[in-house]
Order: sequence, then structure tokens, then C-alpha cells
Amino acid sequence: MAFQTGFEHIVREGELLAPYTWLRLGGEAQYFAEPTNVNELAELVRRCHQDDMPVRLLGAGSNLLVRDEGVSGLVIHLSVAQFSEVSVKDEVLTAGGGAKLSHAISTAVREGLAGLEPLVGIPGTVGGALHGNASSHGNDIGQCTQGATVLTHSGEMVSRSRDELVFAYRESSLDELVILTAQFQLEPEDPQELTKRMQKLWIVNKAAQPLRDQNTAMVFKDPGGISAASLIEQAGLKGASAGSAELSDRNANFIVTRPDATSSDVLKLIDQLRETVLERLGVELETAIDIW
Ligand SMILES: Cc1cc2nc3c(=O)[nH]c(=O)nc-3n(C[C@H](O)[C@H](O)[C@H](O)COP(=O)(O)OP(=O)(O)OC[C@H]3O[C@@H](n4cnc5c(N)ncnc54)[C@H](O)[C@@H]3O)c2cc1C
Repeated sequence: MAFQTGFEHIVREGELLAPYTWLRLGGEAQYFAEPTNVNELAELVRRCHQDDMPVRLLGAGSNLLVRDEGVSGLVIHLSVAQFSEVSVKDEVLTAGGGAKLSHAISTAVREGLAGLEPLVGIPGTVGGALHGNASSHGNDIGQCTQGATVLTHSGEMVSRSRDELVFAYRESSLDELVILTAQFQLEPEDPQELTKRMQKLWIVNKAAQPLRDQNTAMVFKDPGGISAASLIEQAGLKGASAGSAELSDRNANFIVTRPDATSSDVLKLIDQLRETVLERLGVELETAIDIW
């Protein structure tokens, strides 16, 4: 039996992934599924596991570079509302892995709950943020994460409590296939004060990013507390480019692409930046972006 038998309504073949990523680049997924509920999701994952088919989870694609040749196996996208619910009870916010991080933050702020607002302006989903422990100015999502429910590669649903979770700079022990939901323990605060703080942080964070209409990605982790952007500039790489991919003039740790760019342009530019920073400054840059 083919893995998609009975799931023809949610599985497509040869789906172009570029429109699902912030860089708007990359080839096709061999198979692409948008399950309509958690049972469908779990059954699909179990069948792929049995067939040894590789499975990947796509969030909002803000930290992804898909190669021009595309990816084999199944790419799962949590696009339906059931995976994106956000609710608050007492001081705990619960969010689906497919919920926009911005939705979780604005809900918390509206309810007068502090803890997530430093992350305002970071694009993507709650699942993507937990997978890579998204952070801004020394605050990361792991700090207030209380627990999570995940789906493993074998299709088993497991709860992870706070004491099982480990978060480090842009790293998280939540590395199972799907982060389904997560709980965040937040602190009560005056909603008006909180809103003002969030607005100020939004302005600061947005000013350090390329413009919203640019196809872009943040490339490297900041090594040992030094910003990757300043290292790139110190190495004399401001304005560097490869093909139709170039460094953003607003922040040298972002690559922006022109419409005719390819993923190979971006990969060439990443290699060029890494090699030159190592050669001129002796620092090895590690990519923050996931490359499929
Ligand atoms: C303009 C811009 C500004 C940015 N600023 C910041 C910043 O300040 N700080 C920061 O940390 N990052 C920043 N990023 C990077 C990016 O926004 C974050 O890494 C974000 O959390 C990625 O979420 P996503 O949903 O887009 O994940 P995707 O890019 O879709 O996926 C990234 C990884 O997460 C995994 N993943 C996604 N969803 C799930 C899930 N539900 N379960 C399991 N795994 C999942 C994917 O499999 C993939 O491995 C920025 C990016 C851009 C384009």
C-alpha cells in the first residue's frame, strides 16, 4: 500500500517549496501534506516511518533555505487552525506549534502576561521558535517554556515537562519531528505598560532587519556573544554578493535576494562569508539557517 492511500485529499506530489519560505527559493518536495487533524498527521508519520521515507516539518519558512534540487520524501505543513490555537488559563499560555509567534505574543500582552514580548518582531511559528530557541537581546523562548507535546519520528505522541527540556543559544532539546503544542509560564503585568514595552521593542527589532517586502534570511549564529553582523563588516564584507544574492545594507547578517536568485547563489555567498571571516579574523561562523 502506498503511504498516501486514503490521504489523497491532503498529500500532493511535486509541490514547489519556494513560496513557503521567506527567501522564496528552492525546488520541489517529492510529497507535501497538509493534515487536517492530529490523527491524520500521526498516521501519515507512522506510515512514512514504516516505509523509511524521510519526513520534514515546515513552519513559516523564515529560517529555511531549500536547495534548488528540492527534497525527497514528505514535507508536512501545519496549515489548519487546529494546529494554531492559542489560549490562556491563569498565567499559562498554551499555543499550537503552527501558531504564529506574533499571535502568541499579542495574546499574552493583551491578557497582561509578560515573558514572550522580548521576542516581538521575530517571524515564524511557535514550533519553529521552540525548535531553534529563538532569541532576541539575550531573551529566548526557552526561558518561559513550561512543557510541550511532541510527535516523534515513529508517530508517537509524547509530553515533555520543563525539567526534561534543555535550551541553549539557538539550540533546543525539542528536536522531535513535530512540536504540537507548548505551554509558557508568564508573569502578570499591567497590560498598558506591557503594550508600550512591546511597541518599543518592536521598533528596535524591526530596525535591525531588512525591509518587510525583501526576500531574506538571517544567516549565522552570533559566536561567543559577538554579533555575526559586526564580524562580517570587520572582515570587509559589507555589500558582498554572489549571483543575485547579497548582504542586506541594514544588517550584514541577513542575505537578501533578487527575484532571479537561486539557492546556489545563497549557498555560494554563505561559503564566501564563512571562508573570509575565518581567513581574516580567525572566527568560524556557524549557520543559524536550516538548509534542506
Ligand atoms: C527578518 C527575519 C528576522 C529574524 N530575526 C530573528 C531573531 O531575532 N531571533 C531569532 O532567533 N531568529 C530570527 N530569525 C529566524 C527565524 O525567524 C526563527 O528561527 C523562527 O523561529 C523560525 O520559525 P519558522 O516557523 O519560520 O521555522 P521554519 O523556518 O519553517 O523551520 C525552521 C526549523 O524549525 C523546524 N520546525 C518548524 N516548525 C516546527 C514544529 N512545529 N515542530 C518541530 N519543528 C519545527 C523546521 O523543521 C526547521 O528545522 C529571523 C528571520 C528573519 C527572516
